Amino acid sequence: MIWFGRRGLRVLMYHKVSPVSEDEHTVNVARLERQLRWLRDEKFQFTTLADLLRGVLPARPVLVTFDDAYVNTLEVARPVLRALSVPAVVFVPTAFIGQTSAWDRDPQPLMDVGQLRALAGDGFELALHSHRHENFAGLTSAQIMADVRESMVTIRRLGLTTAPAFAYPYGGRPRDRRVRATMQAVLRTCGVTLAFRVGNRVNALPLADPLEIQRLSIRGDESFWAFQRKVAWGKFF
Ligand SMILES: [Zn+2]
Repeated sequence: MIWFGRRGLRVLMYHKVSPVSEDEHTVNVARLERQLRWLRDEKFQFTTLADLLRGVLPARPVLVTFDDAYVNTLEVARPVLRALSVPAVVFVPTAFIGQTSAWDRDPQPLMDVGQLRALAGDGFELALHSHRHENFAGLTSAQIMADVRESMVTIRRLGLTTAPAFAYPYGGRPRDRRVRATMQAVLRTCGVTLAFRVGNRVNALPLADPLEIQRLSIRGDESFWAFQRKVAWGKFF
């Protein structure tokens, strides 16, 4: 394939990885491997939150992220990522550590503290995904403040280390400008300097707003062509 896409930062958003089955929020291991190999063959360079925070991105940066800290990120995705030397970020909803994704239609086991530690020492960066995994679009400023603070307190209490980065559950942020400004102020007060929504666009560099970074939703029910097109152009093609 001759490259024809937009310039900028691509952030891939994965959820579950399965040995076999697929659906909107689940890719199977063969699909994950094919996608990562294709990115590498197209001369994309896998980057990290640390690089992004330092402002030292490669020429064609791609950041791989996994939401929700499913056990399958550790058991199914990690071997593929390790074999291809691809770093990744895991966004952790702190109230659910060691439990299940109670918000899912089909709740799946989530990593416990020991599993998160094992992952963090193995090419993954941990980052925040709220405390209760509620959609910030429907919360008041006070509720958002309480949730973000609870999340930070929990991380500290468990002795985990996270990057100063945050993924909004469901990609949701308050529509009301004042509430959104308060949310951003809360995040900054808690030391968060990068925050990720969905949006399905390639991010122009330098980033217009580091608390509104867009991610490309990678689904298990799309063709490989749809994946390539999304990576190349984002939502518009
Ligand atoms: Zn989530």
